[in-house]
Amino acid sequence: MLKSKKHIDRTMNKDTKLLRDKVMNIINEARYDRGYDLPFIKVRITDTVKRCKNVLGSARMGGNYIWIPASTTQRKDLVAIVLHEVLHAVCKTKHEEGCPLMDTHAKGCPDDVAWEIFNTKFFVWYYYEKDYNEELEEA
Ligand SMILES: [Zn+2]
Repeated sequence: MLKSKKHIDRTMNKDTKLLRDKVMNIINEARYDRGYDLPFIKVRITDTVKRCKNVLGSARMGGNYIWIPASTTQRKDLVAIVLHEVLHAVCKTKHEEGCPLMDTHAKGCPDDVAWEIFNTKFFVWYYYEKDYNEELEEA
């Protein structure tokens, strides 16, 4: 189990699973409905530690692992938050100041804008960076 300094994983039960499903539905929409070739992504529903109560989500860069606080799952911009974390987790996408989706403090990006930016960033990674990174790691 991966540990985060900001999050405390909730134990898996019926309630946690319901919240996790909200996040998985977005990832599955990306994978199955929209056809993105995503790896398996581990999703943990959490409570944040006190000093990180404003954290909306976290990801292990390139590690296919994301942490989403239970409170975040109730937000209207959950799609944008999940896609932000998926880009970190899968594509190692870094923060980009002023980007509605990838700004460090990205706030309230509408779903269609979020999907559009995700599409651009994912394909840049998929076609130009993915194999290059893999080659580097093998060298
Ligand atoms: Zn981020």
